Amino acid sequence: MQYTSPSLEKLIHELSKLPSIGRKTAQRLAFHLLKQPKEEVLSLSQALTDVKDKIGRCSVCYNITEVDPCAICTHPRRDRHVICVVEEANDVLAIERTEQFRGLYHVLGGLLNPLDGIGPGDLRIAEILPRLTGEVKEIILAINPNVQGDATVMFIAEKLKNYPVKVTRIARGIPIGSDLEFADMTTLTRALEGRVNL
Ligand SMILES: [Zn+2]
Repeated sequence: MQYTSPSLEKLIHELSKLPSIGRKTAQRLAFHLLKQPKEEVLSLSQALTDVKDKIGRCSVCYNITEVDPCAICTHPRRDRHVICVVEEANDVLAIERTEQFRGLYHVLGGLLNPLDGIGPGDLRIAEILPRLTGEVKEIILAINPNVQGDATVMFIAEKLKNYPVKVTRIARGIPIGSDLEFADMTTLTRALEGRVNL
């Protein structure tokens, strides 16, 4: 389909690159934006720029943050004896929403996936080791139960085998193949409480 406005066509093209946005939705969003007051659109555009300019990774836990170390790592009342290892930063948000976990986090930045060429060196697995200073008593692997998740859990458990730290995995309350991010709060809370030793 040919549009008369190259700018509008470009916007539709950019929007349709977003996850779960098809061409039709992209078109609807683009026309919606076109109708909005200029300030509204500028504010959206500023928000998009800010996430790239201001947000970085915490040098301790690799969660997304605007200050380094992040607010969780520096919080005086977080429990420093437990580190919860997750796949991505949005899993931190999901677990924080349950308000059941008061420890620290470690964000891997993905899962092992040999078919896609993602090996241990592509994830922040080795970065867990310097954090095991003796103060840490338990590592909770809160990783989605799927093929890649299981492989990642096994790899990390093996890596931590000789460290004086308890390694647990959250219970399989999360339906197989589903995402932590979308688990409801009760399910996630139960999965955290019912974690098993590895
Ligand atoms: Zn941090």
